[in-house]
Amino acid sequence: MILRDVLAQAERRAQLTLQKHGELQYVVATSKGWSRSDLLIRLDLPTDDALQMSAEHAAQQLADGYPAEYLTGHAAFCDTVVRVSEGVLVPRPETEHLVELAEDFIVEEGRPSAVVLDLCSGSGAIALALAARLQQVNVVGLELDPVSISCSRESALDAGLSERVRFIQGNVLAAWDLALADFRSRTDVIVSNPPYVREQRLLTAHESSPVEPVWALYGGTSGMLFYKRIIAQACDWLRPGGLLLLEIDDGLEQGILDLFERYGLQGGHWSPDLRGLPRYAEARRAE
Ligand code: GLN
Repeated sequence: MILRDVLAQAERRAQLTLQKHGELQYVVATSKGWSRSDLLIRLDLPTDDALQMSAEHAAQQLADGYPAEYLTGHAAFCDTVVRVSEGVLVPRPETEHLVELAEDFIVEEGRPSAVVLDLCSGSGAIALALAARLQQVNVVGLELDPVSISCSRESALDAGLSERVRFIQGNVLAAWDLALADFRSRTDVIVSNPPYVREQRLLTAHESSPVEPVWALYGGTSGMLFYKRIIAQACDWLRPGGLLLLEIDDGLEQGILDLFERYGLQGGHWSPDLRGLPRYAEARRAE
């Protein structure tokens, strides 16, 4: 059979939606070490049984809701690639803008060797992308989940960044004091994309990606659980004038701005994502 027919048959058998057609091509191409265009130019060439079996397996997994990134083991984020195994949240495209905001701040402040904390670092995508862009920054990621921690450490090694990017296992909701004591009043930027999906939205979020870990999304009944803890402590860790930068969910922006004020952070404001929804919030410690 030619490759085109193998893919079509795999899609039919798994009843794969049209939307995932490109994902199957991408996963099959990656398994052969090809780019997607390498695959496209081979569509009319005959294939072997091994490829047919792996295409059928991949189509079934995609139909079962596995993200393509779990099947390839990698996710692209900014200019980097991070490892993602099952159990690790796949970094989202809208999160890339957090990296740009952190980068702009560090460049504008003229602090090339800034110290950055990434709270709830997950796959490590934010920490690694920032370190890849700014050659002298040092980043520490704090993450509770051991699988995410080991993926992020391996990604740091892959990218040759393990000297400047470290990942510490710890609970943002508990005693990060101990794990991060060295950073007290020294941190230039705290960046965080914590779990923020509120209870009311959790089912929809889970259904849209059923294999990804729900705990990485769930931010408590109101979605504010992690922000309360992070914002309450930010001033103790930031240096005077340092920046707190958060990814947020729409509908939470006012609550976040109120918390900024309550805990003495200044210049608090939010900004929208490409769909126009409140997605980023930032504030600074007073000089
Ligand atoms: N935006 C994520 C989603 O796709 C949520 C990420 C988070 O909770 N930090 O559901």
